Amino acid sequence: MGTRIVVCLDGTSPRYISKSDTPTLDAIAREGFNTIGRAVVPTVTNVNNTSIVTASFPEEHGITSNYFLDLSTGEERYMESSEYLLTETIFERIGRRGKKSALVTAKEKLKTLIHRGTEIAESAEKPSRWLVDRIGAPPEFYTIETNHWLFRAAREILVVKSPDVLYLTTTDYATHAYPPEDERSQWNFNQLDRLLGEILNISSDIEIVVTADHGMNAKSRALDLTRILNEAGVPGTAIPIIKDRHVVHHQNLGGAAYIYLNDPSAMDDATTLLLEERGVESIMPNSEAARIYRLHPDRIGHLLVLADIDTVFGTISAAREEITIRSHGSLHEQEIPIYGLGKGPMALQPQSNPEVAAWLDK
Ligand SMILES: [Zn+2]
Repeated sequence: MGTRIVVCLDGTSPRYISKSDTPTLDAIAREGFNTIGRAVVPTVTNVNNTSIVTASFPEEHGITSNYFLDLSTGEERYMESSEYLLTETIFERIGRRGKKSALVTAKEKLKTLIHRGTEIAESAEKPSRWLVDRIGAPPEFYTIETNHWLFRAAREILVVKSPDVLYLTTTDYATHAYPPEDERSQWNFNQLDRLLGEILNISSDIEIVVTADHGMNAKSRALDLTRILNEAGVPGTAIPIIKDRHVVHHQNLGGAAYIYLNDPSAMDDATTLLLEERGVESIMPNSEAARIYRLHPDRIGHLLVLADIDTVFGTISAAREEITIRSHGSLHEQEIPIYGLGKGPMALQPQSNPEVAAWLDK
């Protein structure tokens, strides 16, 4: 088999690509496959990256959020290590057949979460000495150029270490910062497309899928659901699913939240109250959320709340605030661009993130 590659462009709605000059992706669409596919809900990074590398939904792999409250112990935990993964990665499956996998990520914690089974794993936050000696040190983390460095890192690993499979996943600093029409975004996607072309030029038998973990939209309203509940006498905690130690991008404001009620029998009261709130699009009990979005019922609280396109949830200084931010997490960031080239991707024609890497071990 030739080299098999999956690239995940973090936070990239289809519009980012359609508004930029991307000749490499255009060529893939012409010679291969291109569609607008679906991200897994909640539309956040860890949930979708894990769905990609395990080729499964959160009901199976267990990563339902960046963060969760363990109801059995009351402990609040970041789900950023592979100990939370309930299923094996595609890299482990491939490894059993003697094939070598490589992983390239921006953040070290995402590497820690999804690296199991890889022989080579690099992050821009903590690159190996070997990589830095060959392509130079990564740029400052919160810059557009971090992702360009990751593409160069992936190319270097492909050329020198010849893995059978490579997964490259970027960071969404640039799309949190700039809308698709902004020149800086257009420059960014043009550069990424050029670097993708350099990867494809390594060899003629590369098979590749390009996807995104979720989209990105402008948001103007923030709601603090914990305050709203507590002010109305229905005590509980709303965990913004996007909650992350890296807060520069989005201030922990995202379009979905899990509600943990102090008294689970207050579910109906909480639902009625929150449905009246402008900006709340839908709210559903644990069992329904688990069924509809294929989530793990032990890791999603009592209620799932989804925001409308303009709204995000998080911890703010009032119950409601006007804001200007770009973020994700809701159903409105579910549309993602998917491109595929080569025999495996063409045969599968993946339509969603749990499918985009499913051809790697075939
Ligand atoms: Zn992301």
